[in-house]
Amino acid sequence: TEVLTQRDTTIFDLIEKERERQVQGIELIASENFTSPQVMEAAGSVLTNKYAEGYPGKRYYGGCEVVDEIETLAIERAKELFGAVYANVQPHSGSQANASVYHACLQPGDTILGFDLAHGGHLTHGSPVNFSGKLYRPTFYGVDEETGTLNYDKIQEIADKEKPKMIIAGASAYSRDMDFARFREIADSVNAILLADISHPSGLIAKGILNDPIPHCHIVTTTTHKTLRGPRGGLILMGENFENPFGIRLKNGNLRKMSGLLDLAVFPGNQGGPLEHIIAAKAIAFGEALSDDFLHYMLQVKKNAEAMAKSFMAKNYKVISGGTDNHMMLIDLRNKGITGKDAEKALEKAAITANKNMVPFDDQSPFITSGIRFGTPAITTRGLVESDMETIVDLIDEVLMSPEDEAGISKIKEKVHTLMKHRPLFNS
Ligand code: PLP
Repeated sequence: TEVLTQRDTTIFDLIEKERERQVQGIELIASENFTSPQVMEAAGSVLTNKYAEGYPGKRYYGGCEVVDEIETLAIERAKELFGAVYANVQPHSGSQANASVYHACLQPGDTILGFDLAHGGHLTHGSPVNFSGKLYRPTFYGVDEETGTLNYDKIQEIADKEKPKMIIAGASAYSRDMDFARFREIADSVNAILLADISHPSGLIAKGILNDPIPHCHIVTTTTHKTLRGPRGGLILMGENFENPFGIRLKNGNLRKMSGLLDLAVFPGNQGGPLEHIIAAKAIAFGEALSDDFLHYMLQVKKNAEAMAKSFMAKNYKVISGGTDNHMMLIDLRNKGITGKDAEKALEKAAITANKNMVPFDDQSPFITSGIRFGTPAITTRGLVESDMETIVDLIDEVLMSPEDEAGISKIKEKVHTLMKHRPLFNS
């Protein structure tokens, strides 16, 4: 019929509007990035038409010979990129990767120990509004108030007291490297499974710029769309295919290996048909991440974050922990007399996108917050370097000093558009 054959201009016009918003603005959301054209091409391909429940060679549908090749390549590239022996590329998102790991390793009611959301952790690490805090018994570690960094002795104390079945090392708003070896010592001392959720820094970790969790953590999860610069999705990895530490004994007397438990937890445990178009896009992104170009990109992301943190501190902004080791920073705005919510809103008017964020020991609600989070993965993909970071911090400071000055903010928006004008989304 006419309706079906007509191009849906309503939606395509909106997509174009969003493309312009992305092209014209400065994107500082730490969890966002711009994928390469070939990643997008795969994500928009005919593979979206295919059902492929199961795993390569063991599907519940016919016609899977091509997607089997694609998924196998995605798995092999993920393993090579992270030095892993096991990879499951099917999780639709980071949250579903974590849900699958919990499903494989825990029973409802078991205790988990995660990074407090209010200190920089993620919803899926035990927040009461998330499945992880409803199905399991959540306990938390956080950062020290004076240093803004993790105190491993304290984490050990909490683990001794709470006896978690699983410890989750990972965060959404923590600018420092993590000591996975120390986390493993803590986990071993209470016989807990150690999961590293490297969703944020996985690109830096893949290129050896930050500590490697693979040799120390039983299981590693990540999203594929943040620093890793792939399509939206999740990934589960293991450095060694160990037997389940809690010994799932099968009828035939064998111990079920963790790899089998994880595969079953993803499908059929948590998901139905895998998104083979997204898996193809993941395979392309892993291939790109294996290149030297990607190493240079990640090094620049880190350099840009360092330069940005330094510029903020020079203007008396309080960067939590006094700097950054990775791609992001969290800023406590309390000494600047503006809330995270108002800062986010004012910056948005200037075409600078960032997100409000709780800071450790915040006295504002999660809807208001005292902090704001900035990251450099997206602007680095667009080709910006250290000197641009100074310019951007100047622009942000101008906005935050006069958030009500509509005319002034309008002028800053012009400057933002000029800065981003001849920079395609994917330029590195
Ligand atoms: N884990 C961490 C540490 C994250 O930062 C995020 C996303 O922000 C996730 C998991 C969840 O990823 P997704 O949004 O794909 O479910």
